[in-house]
Amino acid sequence: MDAEAIKRSLEGSGLRCTPQRYAVMAFLMERNRHPTAVEIFTAVNRVDPRSSRATTYNNLRDLVQAGLVREVAVEGRAARFDAKGMRHHHFICDRCGNVEDIEWYDVPSPASGSLGKRILRECELILRGLCTKCTPQHASR
Ligand SMILES: [Zn+2]
Ligand SMILES: [Zn+2]
Repeated sequence: MDAEAIKRSLEGSGLRCTPQRYAVMAFLMERNRHPTAVEIFTAVNRVDPRSSRATTYNNLRDLVQAGLVREVAVEGRAARFDAKGMRHHHFICDRCGNVEDIEWYDVPSPASGSLGKRILRECELILRGLCTKCTPQHASR
């Protein structure tokens, strides 16, 4: 992901490309690891020690609101963040809390009756279970 593309996607969403927004976005795009807000702050602060926790969190919130970053809620643990990029589903490990990407496939939308007046934006899945690392080694398959 090059600098120009990050700048374009920020400005395309009506956000000014400040050095700190850029740093948050670049960190999220370069590693597909679903970091927590704390991990993002630590990484951004390492590059630019002047960036405060509050600024980083505000930038993160702006990016989520602009639809460039997705917040993946993991119950009982800190939320993870994900640069949207390609559409995908998530797999969350019950044991270690690891969040992994699952290749996108279409999910049937709920019947319009069950939505009532709600407006559906997207329909994505969170799959849960044990990740490869947490699967017992001797499990037969
Ligand atoms: Zn696991
Ligand atoms: Zn993801």
